[in-house]
Amino acid sequence: MPAKQEGLCLLPQGLAGAEPYQGPPAVLIRQGRVAALGEEALAKGGQRREMPGLWLSPAPLDAHVHLYLGPGPEHAMEAWRRAGVAAVRDLGHKPHHATPRDGGGPPLLRTACVGLGAQGEAAYWLAAPLSGAQAFAQAAREQARRGASVIKLFATGLLDFRHPGEVFYPRALSAEEVGAAVQEAHAAGLPVTVHANGETAVSQALAQGVDGIEHGYFLGPRCLMSMAQKGVWWTPTLAAVQAHLEDPEGRHDQATLEALAEIVRRQAAQIKRGEELGVNLVMGSDAGSYNLPHGDALFREIAAWLEAGVSPEAVFEASTKRAARSMGLAGELGEIAVGARDWLLATPGDPRRDPLLWRRPVWRGF
Ligand SMILES: [Zn+2]
Repeated sequence: MPAKQEGLCLLPQGLAGAEPYQGPPAVLIRQGRVAALGEEALAKGGQRREMPGLWLSPAPLDAHVHLYLGPGPEHAMEAWRRAGVAAVRDLGHKPHHATPRDGGGPPLLRTACVGLGAQGEAAYWLAAPLSGAQAFAQAAREQARRGASVIKLFATGLLDFRHPGEVFYPRALSAEEVGAAVQEAHAAGLPVTVHANGETAVSQALAQGVDGIEHGYFLGPRCLMSMAQKGVWWTPTLAAVQAHLEDPEGRHDQATLEALAEIVRRQAAQIKRGEELGVNLVMGSDAGSYNLPHGDALFREIAAWLEAGVSPEAVFEASTKRAARSMGLAGELGEIAVGARDWLLATPGDPRRDPLLWRRPVWRGF
């Protein structure tokens, strides 16, 4: 039988992301999927490939990207392919942009389609300007019809880079508007995730039953506790502010750079606290936003969490299994399990100890 049908039996030194499996490190891949693990993989045959000194792990996912920001969708998709990113979630584009289509990957592409935001001066540039509960309900239905896999709300403006703790338009949406979008999205079987910074908007979003918080700067302990209790996903996008702090074009004066450094410090401390409290941290980079190129942005976010003191194991989990679950890809990506895709990376060390090994895999299955 040709090797292609028989499959390929990979024999690395170790497996990362295969839990709860604990047997011998052998993975049989067939027709793009993991067909068996351990003794069963060895028994079923397939062409054997020894991988001494290497660990096999699922390729990481990026749960917060913008396909249309930067040089364009094709360029972005190619950058993720090259970087070995298994799936991305596009969190909002402008109403005139064409609905992104998932080409089957890699990477798999999930999208919120058009973001939903406020009208008037609090309008957000990546969202349709809407007003009133009915408009939000209708817009959520419309995104579901277009093929959205998540509904994205913009419930605040951006951070005030000059004043740490301050947020532009801290309550851009009413509770009724958020609630109406959540109700329609859930009726359509879709989760809702919300761009929100500051306690006011995040508490309101949590009270309305949202599934995820994006950014979530300046939350305070009560919000973090509440997110942990509710099991809400949190994608804290630390690299997005670091990218401004790097200031490659000399845009900022000294006072702003100091304020940006303080914002980064506060968010880093919050992420660490979130880990301690058991918040469902999800890796997402905000790729495409200022000074954050598609592909590499994911590794910058990973590096930022590690610098913040988050344990490598938690970073690994947030980038693989938990990211996949938050994106509706459980069992498909983010783990080495029978039936999952064979989008695996081999690294000269355990990525649960050093997730940045993903930056330079020595072998990849896709
Ligand atoms: Zn974003």
